[in-house]
Amino acid sequence: MTNVPFFAQVNSHFDRAAKFTDHRPGLLRQIKTCNQVFHTTFPLQRDDGSIESVEGWRAVHSSHKLPSKGGIRFTTKASEDEVMALAALMTYKCAIVNVPFGGAKGAVKIDPHNYSEPELERLTRRYTFELTQKRFIGPGIDVPAPDYGTGPREMAWIADTYEAVAHELDAIGCVTGKPLAQGGIRGRVEATGRGVFFGIREACDCAEDMKKLGLSPGLEGKTVVVQGLGNVGYHAAKFLQDGGAVIVGVTEYEGAVYNPKGFDIEALVAHREDSGSLLGFAGAQDLAAREEGLELECDILVPAALENQITVENAPRVKAKIIGEAANGPVTSDADKVLNERGVMIIPDAFLNAGGVTVSYFEWVKNLSHLRFGRLGRRFDMRMRTTLLQTVEEHVGVEFPPGTIEDVAQGAQEEDLVNSGLEDTIIEAFNEVRDIKMRHDGQMDMRTAAFVCAIEKVALTYRERGIFP
Ligand code: GLU
Repeated sequence: MTNVPFFAQVNSHFDRAAKFTDHRPGLLRQIKTCNQVFHTTFPLQRDDGSIESVEGWRAVHSSHKLPSKGGIRFTTKASEDEVMALAALMTYKCAIVNVPFGGAKGAVKIDPHNYSEPELERLTRRYTFELTQKRFIGPGIDVPAPDYGTGPREMAWIADTYEAVAHELDAIGCVTGKPLAQGGIRGRVEATGRGVFFGIREACDCAEDMKKLGLSPGLEGKTVVVQGLGNVGYHAAKFLQDGGAVIVGVTEYEGAVYNPKGFDIEALVAHREDSGSLLGFAGAQDLAAREEGLELECDILVPAALENQITVENAPRVKAKIIGEAANGPVTSDADKVLNERGVMIIPDAFLNAGGVTVSYFEWVKNLSHLRFGRLGRRFDMRMRTTLLQTVEEHVGVEFPPGTIEDVAQGAQEEDLVNSGLEDTIIEAFNEVRDIKMRHDGQMDMRTAAFVCAIEKVALTYRERGIFP
């Protein structure tokens, strides 16, 4: 554990990076500070008739761009400090990946496993109603999304409640991560994990950086340990495995499993679904203490659960050479120093897990335009490409193998466009951050470079809008 509050940890990263910029202290303070925090306690009638008081928050760290954006989590660990820290990370994350939003985060202090579906629905709707009344939600104000303990089901309840109260044309854009039939977008569920894969693959493709770590370039054959098999951890593991990496360990509440030769992630998930636990998976060794999972021998460690998992206490025992932060804030600021000194490469949350909000941005644009991506151009593109290829066959005298024209001529579907936009966004962000690091003779760590990138972009928005010219 760490005694440093989460928001103070985020701010210490900010301060370290701010020294590499030449902005006035007042502007830096304005960028760093959390602009608004809404706190509410509302009653929930349980199924047995008893009444509970439920606490909830929504923090808007920055409205330098509107709307502000960020998930809503359901967890007993929720606190004002945590939502402010996570909202700040959203500001920096959106800036780094050029997603035009401010940063926000919400939380409800409950363990969703202890509530029935109707109870969860009642409390989600009530929380949304509170946000609506206080203008902490709206397609042009603040747009929530899924986070730890929430998913498309909760987003559908939020959208429905908001629409019923607000009666606006664009009301459906008040929240993202919705089910497809409620205005969601294809590829959003997998987006964060897919983005983590793109970011790690890009890092591994950099021969110069891999050489410094004593690793060969490329993802192929690299060993990976994942902490957390939730939506993000599972998808990151699956895409990394499909991309040629070898999953050697997974750690969860109940313990960890390890096999240095690797195992199939889908088989592990099926085993956990059947037996209720990771442990006892054929061909893997059980580790009863889940913390040991973080210290397993591997090339890449992917913490995909909650914040403050790698601390000064366990950082010296982490064996991975690369840490890909799929969760928000999994490495404490003290541990960050220890790991940097040891030469571990940390690919920071501030852009590695930005795939979720990137595809949320696509969903929001889709909602505001009331039009599915690919709907207008797909058939036209198909026809043009078919004509082109047929013309080549006719005039150049080549004959393509059967099926080739159909394959090549295929127009892009919504999911193809979403995944292409996501890949481009994460790769660009990685290279932009790496360029900043290299401009400082490679001495700067990736997190500091990511924060420099974010500070410059937020400062530019203030300047361009005529505030602090
Ligand atoms: N909760 C996710 C995050 O932390 C997604 C936020 C969003 O899509 O707005 O990045």
